[in-house]
Amino acid sequence: MLSGGVGGARFVRGVVAVAGAAATTVVGNVGDDVEVLGLHVSPDLDSILYALAGLADERRGWGRSDESWNALETAGVLGGENWFALGDRDLGLHLVRTQALRRGESLSAVTARLAAALGVETRLLPATDDRLRTWLATPAGEFPFQEWFVARGHRDEVDAVRFEGEDAARPAPGVVQALGGADLILLAPSNPYVSVGPILAVRDVREALARRSVPSVAVSPLIGGRAVKGPADRMLQRLAGGTSPRHIASCYSGLIDALVVDEADADDLEGLGDVRPIVTRTLMSDSDARRRLAEAALKAGSAGGQAAGVRPERRGSVPA
Ligand code: GDP
Ligand code: CA
Repeated sequence: MLSGGVGGARFVRGVVAVAGAAATTVVGNVGDDVEVLGLHVSPDLDSILYALAGLADERRGWGRSDESWNALETAGVLGGENWFALGDRDLGLHLVRTQALRRGESLSAVTARLAAALGVETRLLPATDDRLRTWLATPAGEFPFQEWFVARGHRDEVDAVRFEGEDAARPAPGVVQALGGADLILLAPSNPYVSVGPILAVRDVREALARRSVPSVAVSPLIGGRAVKGPADRMLQRLAGGTSPRHIASCYSGLIDALVVDEADADDLEGLGDVRPIVTRTLMSDSDARRRLAEAALKAGSAGGQAAGVRPERRGSVPA
């Protein structure tokens, strides 16, 4: 599966609970990666790692539980940068990763080591080991992802998304093989533009998806046309022209066969073309909900999954 951070990590937990860790490979977004206080931070990879290791702060949605903030506070007192929240426990991971990268280890290699050390059996691969960074063009100027998202609180409307380094970015070892050998490809309910988009910006990843011989199923990150969290709805409105299932599907043109959408969006399933809608409840409020959503997505991609959760009678019908 292809995954961003928070929404992705929630869904990854459900998929792993249903399919098993050994059967799941996660390809994670690195377009959000950022250098803070001299440390290489990979927020989306870490959200997935912490979620799978049982270390995530579920209420906050990112970072580690039982966290403290002494180092960041000290950095602030000393005039260092403290705009990006890094907890004390979290910092330990960034120290280890940064040292490994400076010694020449690849991001995929150090990610595998961190996962193993945390007891995570699911394979987690960065989309690329090469430098790939997301930039947002806004009416206030162009910003690197974290400056727009964290420092400016994603208040600026987005006119365009750009991925620095995309032309040279090669897939990390194992990514294309995982996509080529998969029984099913899943796109997590992550932001299509800034979470899944940077993964698909790696040309060979997009091509592997385009020439797939197995089903590809995306899960919508919107419920009732609204993002559960973050700017996905505003971005879809402005960049795709709306927040209906067809607008989500338009972000993945030629790359998906089915789209899992929430019951709240079931009255507007027109314009999906070849993409089959699967209607179910998609709010991952607890482990049961995560598991049910994963089951619906997995079933959608398996033989005989045609009827899974679909309500054909509602397809294309006029809302009551
Ligand atoms: P980020 O990298 O941390 O921004 O996380 P992602 O891009 O992976 O996830 C953000 C998206 O997850 C947002 O657009 C949310 O609407 C979506 N999301 C979060 N929780 C849920 C949920 O329970 N159900 C669904 N369908 N989407 C969710
Ligand atoms: Ca992210």
